[in-house]
Order: sequence, then C-alpha cells, then structure tokens
Amino acid sequence: MSKISGFIDIKRQEPGKQEVANRIRHFREFETPLPYETLIDQAARCMDCGIPYCHACGCPLGNLIPDWNNMVHRGHWQRALELLHATNNFPEITGRICPALCESACSLAINQEPVLIKHIELQIAEKGWQEGWIKPQPASVNSNKRVAIIGSGPAGLSAAQQLVRGGHSVVVFEKSNRIGGLLRYGIPDFKLEKWVIDRRLAQMQSEGVIFEPDVDVGVDISPHYLSRNFDAIIIATGESVARDLNVPGREHKGIHFAMDYLSQQNRRNNGESIPAEKIIDAKNKHVVVIGGGDTGADCIGTAQRQGARRITQIELLRQPPTERTSDNPWPYWPKILRTSSSHAEGCQRLWSILTKSFAGKNQHVASLQCVKLDWQKDPQTDNQKYSEIPGSEFELKADLVLIATGFSHTEHSPLLQKLALEKNAKGNIKVDSKGMTCASGVFAVGDCVCGASLVVNAIQQGRAIAKRVHQFLTSKT
Ligand SMILES: Cc1cc2nc3c(=O)[nH]c(=O)nc-3n(C[C@H](O)[C@H](O)[C@H](O)COP(=O)(O)OP(=O)(O)OC[C@H]3O[C@@H](n4cnc5c(N)ncnc54)[C@H](O)[C@@H]3O)c2cc1C
Repeated sequence: MSKISGFIDIKRQEPGKQEVANRIRHFREFETPLPYETLIDQAARCMDCGIPYCHACGCPLGNLIPDWNNMVHRGHWQRALELLHATNNFPEITGRICPALCESACSLAINQEPVLIKHIELQIAEKGWQEGWIKPQPASVNSNKRVAIIGSGPAGLSAAQQLVRGGHSVVVFEKSNRIGGLLRYGIPDFKLEKWVIDRRLAQMQSEGVIFEPDVDVGVDISPHYLSRNFDAIIIATGESVARDLNVPGREHKGIHFAMDYLSQQNRRNNGESIPAEKIIDAKNKHVVVIGGGDTGADCIGTAQRQGARRITQIELLRQPPTERTSDNPWPYWPKILRTSSSHAEGCQRLWSILTKSFAGKNQHVASLQCVKLDWQKDPQTDNQKYSEIPGSEFELKADLVLIATGFSHTEHSPLLQKLALEKNAKGNIKVDSKGMTCASGVFAVGDCVCGASLVVNAIQQGRAIAKRVHQFLTSKT
C-alpha cells in the first residue's frame, strides 16, 4: 500500500472520451488516456486491503492488482508490467474491452467509487509497448512436441502463446481470412482497433507460433490428419450459432443477425470488399435492435456511425434496477442497469417487450408488432414468468432489424462430427476435468465449451488448458 490515505484524499477520475458528435463520425477508439501523473495518484487509491477481492474474486485471471497499483504509484512501470503479464497474455486487450469484474469487486466499491483498475492496466501495457519492454520471449527449450490449435480467438491465442513459450511447436488454424476470432470480427473497432491484435500477433510469430488462416478444419483439412501430425489438438472454435427469433414475417429482407452485421462492418473498416447486394447499412434507416445485451449495444454504436435515422433497442426482460438489490451484494457482479458508451450516443431503450411478428412491404421488413409484458415471480417455481399485458400491443417502424439475442451453442460442424465429439447439456463440446474431449489428445476450451462469455474468461481458460496440455505432453508441470 503506497499511500495510506490515498482512498480518502483522492477521488476516482475517469479517462476522457471524444464528444459524441465527433466520435460517431468514425469507427476508431475514442477514449483519451489520462496522463501518467494522474494515474500515479489513481493507483494510490488502492488500499491493498488484505483480502484483495479484485484479484481473488473479481478477476478470472487472478491479476495481481494491488501489487501493480503499488508499482505504478512508485513509478516502477516496468515491474508493474511484469506483474501484469504474469497472469494475463493480452492486458492491452482486456484493458480496453473487459467489463472490469475487478472494479465491481474492489473493496472501495462497497461504499464509494472503485479504483480505476482497468484504465491503469491499459496504460501499463501501452507504456510497455511504447518503451519497447514487450519483446518476444522465445522458449529456451524444445520439447519436440507439436500442438495444433483450431480457432484463433482469445482462448486459442492465449493457449498458443503459453505453449510456444513452454517449448512446444504450435500451429493455429483459423477458418476466417484473418486471425483473432471475435476480437477481429465481432468486437467493433471503436472498442478495439485491430492494430492492437496485429501488434501482439507479431510478437507471437517471433516466438514461433505459426498462423494458418483460411483453413476450415474438418472441411479443408481432416482433423484425423491433424491427429497424425500433432501430439495434441486444442479446439477453441467459439460459440457461433445465433439464437433466432422464429416469429411470423422473419423471412423478410432487412432482418439480420447481429454478428453478420458487426463482422461485416469490421471487414469494411479493414478494406475488405463486400458485394454491394450483401451490404447491411443503417444509413437513414429506422433500426430496431432486438436484445438488450452488449452485442446489441455494439449494433447501436455501429448503426449510429453508419448514420441511422433512429435506433430503438428492445429487450424481453424487465429494466434492471439502478442499484444493487439485497440478493446481489458486493463483491458479486452487480446486475444493474448499464448505459454503455453506445447507448450514450443516442437510442431509445425499451424493456419487457415481446416481438410477436414482423410486417413487410415488397418483401422487405417495415415494422415489428410488439406487446408489453408483465413479469412476476411464479410462486410454485420461484422463477420469473411473463404474461402479455392485454391491450398493450404496439407497432415499431423498422427498415433494418438486428437480432442480438445471443447464441444457442457451438457449431456442430464437420470438425466435431468427424471426431465424434460428445456434447454437453447446452450443445457445446463436452470435456473432462482435464479439459480433454472424448477423443484422446483432443482438448477443447473457451466459448465452444462454456458458451458465450468474456474475453477475460477465454484468456484464463486458454492459459489453463495450455498448462494441462503441457502436462499431457511432458507428464510434468
Ligand atoms: C459482438 C460481440 C462483442 C463482444 N464484446 C466483448 C467485449 O467487449 N468484452 C468481452 O470481454 N467480451 C466480449 N465478447 C465476448 C468475447 O468476444 C468472446 O467470449 C470470446 O471472443 C470467446 O473467445 P474464444 O476464443 O472462445 O472464441 P472466438 O473468439 O469466437 O474464436 C473462435 C474462432 O474459431 C474459428 N473457428 C471455428 N470453427 C473453426 C474451424 N472448423 N476451423 C478453423 N477455425 C474455426 C472461428 O472462425 C473463430 O475465429 C463479445 C462477443 C460478441 C459476439
């Protein structure tokens, strides 16, 4: 603890953001970093509170938060970076897009603003890159073992980096034309610019990781070929089957899955050419986003930048409370109303709304028929149940509808079929306590096992599976 009264004397200060009117004119990041002097003060708000819930309960990676806060306050940035990298392969990514579970679990958050953990993390990492402290760390040993990783999202990438540093030869296969998974083709550029990924990939290549994009394993090459040529396989293929909304009128043009929309905009930003007839654009349109989660918020930010006329987000569930309820105490993740930067850019938000059907004109969607819901606890099951409020039907004008209602399960692709992999209750890949599937030497990790989650969880799971695969390959930790 570097300043005993830091948490009393110093107030939390947020990094700046470009004005809405400016930032919606481009797809780049818009947060303005705080100066180092301010960060040194902000780090001093950390109380080093004995049982650091931020690290032990909040952060899935177990980031050593009080330790690196202390180092930042003392000006030992390089040591702070080492501590950060001890638990997290990609802090410049989590420092940008993590919802910061750590901040909700910070002891200060019991009755005041938490420590600015996420932004300090970002700045430690960015300083590390600027100063040239982040260098390739090639292994000093060679195990002569080969690992194939299928899927290049954060789970596959963190596993790849850990394993290559452990002395194994690692090849990452990716069916898209570029590496990065949802970091590349899901998360919008205004939250995560793609040069951030490329910079880390260059480090990984220098460490020996081989990237093979444009290879759909199970279609372009057989997984059995991989089994013969590699000592272990890790499947990290994500969860990609979107949950649909099967109501009358779904077949109309102008109704798209959020992921088709978001990934297309990322491709356009990257200069990839999209056939004119396939372009999904919100310019001058009445946009309705179905689904009140983070993917829906990303659609709002994207539609705003494309020049939508009006954006409405509708959600089936009721509006969350603005403060924690008694059954959702600190240090758990607060289930409260969140207003993302995309919401702040302008949109209407409606809760407890059920979409009954889509109506169209000339085969193109023109409106949604909706009804308001009443949510009540079912006394028999204790679960929340909804009923439609009689007479509350209404119409919502829409030229573009984006379905952001989550994912049902991982794709039951030829890869899974050819390996005859068992599935868990959610339809994702079933693994044992060591992360191995029913096929010997074939492991699985990330969203394709656990379902849609967070980048920080994917990184943590990638690191954990790397340890298990290393044990499998060498029979020692
Ligand atoms: C729109 C959106 C925004 C999000 N924003 C955030 C955020 O701000 N913060 C956050 O923490 N989390 C966010 N998430 C969640 C986060 O991105 C995911 O939880 C995380 O990327 C999962 O990592 P993964 O490595 O398991 O899978 P993915 O990132 O999904 O990567 C899987 C990869 O496997 C590839 N693949 C699949 N099958 C094959 C095959 N047969 N052969 C070769 N390659 C294959 C896919 O093409 C894909 O590139 C967001 C998710 C979405 C959809």
